[in-house]
Amino acid sequence: MKKGIHPPYQNAKHTCVCGNSFTAKSTKKEIKVEICSACHPFFTGQQKFVDTAGRVDRFKKRYANYTKKVKVTEEKESTQDQSK
Ligand SMILES: [Zn+2]
Repeated sequence: MKKGIHPPYQNAKHTCVCGNSFTAKSTKKEIKVEICSACHPFFTGQQKFVDTAGRVDRFKKRYANYTKKVKVTEEKESTQDQSK
């Protein structure tokens, strides 16, 4: 390798959000990851939602009243039919 053009390649501490940490070579000193071999469903064999920024919660919130609204509109339509 040419001198002076490559970043230093050293041991870097990798930290996962699950609490696991391990060392691997990198040009950075510290790397934070969201998923690793200790918590990825492929290795654990358990189902897990890989949910970034609470997207599943947002979806649940948005459509929590969706089924209720549909029922209400159906009831209105049925009462209109009875009046005819
Ligand atoms: Zn992990």
